[in-house]
Amino acid sequence: MDLSKRFDGKSVVITGGAVGLGLAAAERIAAEGGDLFLVDMNEEGLANAKKSLEETFPGVKVETFAADVSQEAEVKAYVAKAIEVLGKIDGFFNNAGIEGKQNPTHQFGSDEFARVIGVNLNGVFFGMQEVLKHMKERGYGRVLNSASVGGIRGVGNQSGYAASKHGVVGLTRNSAREYGQDNISINAIAPGAIMTDMVRHSLEQMGGENWEEVGKEFVKANPTNRFGKPEEVGALVAFLLSDDAGFINGTVIPIDGGQHAMY
Ligand code: NAD
Repeated sequence: MDLSKRFDGKSVVITGGAVGLGLAAAERIAAEGGDLFLVDMNEEGLANAKKSLEETFPGVKVETFAADVSQEAEVKAYVAKAIEVLGKIDGFFNNAGIEGKQNPTHQFGSDEFARVIGVNLNGVFFGMQEVLKHMKERGYGRVLNSASVGGIRGVGNQSGYAASKHGVVGLTRNSAREYGQDNISINAIAPGAIMTDMVRHSLEQMGGENWEEVGKEFVKANPTNRFGKPEEVGALVAFLLSDDAGFINGTVIPIDGGQHAMY
């Protein structure tokens, strides 16, 4: 079997695809021959991602679309455009997310709660609705939502994030029961601490200039005592969006160095 051909002829939409885990997944899928449609609010990041992907993986089609996933109309627009330019959506990595400010629940702030839910939960739901219509018509699809270790365990000081990511797990399990007969799988990943901009900002919120020292303590929450690498997540995403994972459905897969086993 030639794994480098796993995404030949396939089209994959990735939200939050400009940087971080979305970009790492894009790189892995492009390396395996897949065409890409990257959605993000960060237009400069999208342009950089497109340039580097096209340079590194000639022959792979990379389209980008600037949208805010918390806005339903913008989600409808990016899904319609993806179908128009790629012809179809085989895989959907529903990944865009924000962490939000860290505060205990009584000081969290209702506006901040709504903002985080708007991106992480509403954005995932809107994306699933639109993409699933298309996949159901075609009788094929792989959906992968970004949850978090904070979607299966308590983390503290992150009411909005925890509620949104537990919600993503709920959406994943619920919808997986509805589309299995249409040859559509719906799963989620639950990353622990993977070193991306999001995690660095989070460490800065906790430790300011000493964020790297805080990071060393932070990773003791998992048995490997290190941060995960974005490319390790990219490899898992590619597997779960590929036909190799056709019988995996409705599950939430931690990628956290074993953090979930330590509670
Ligand atoms: P990141 O901050 O590095 O990248 C997130 C991307 O999403 C950015 O490009 C950003 O512009 C985009 N984005 C944010 N809000 C958006 C919106 N409203 N509309 C469109 N795009 C938007 O984060 P990351 O670490 O790559 O995280 C990706 C996903 O993985 C998130 O859902 C995050 O919650 C989840 N996750 C990450 C970790 C980790 O350790 N890095 C752990 C658990 C879960």
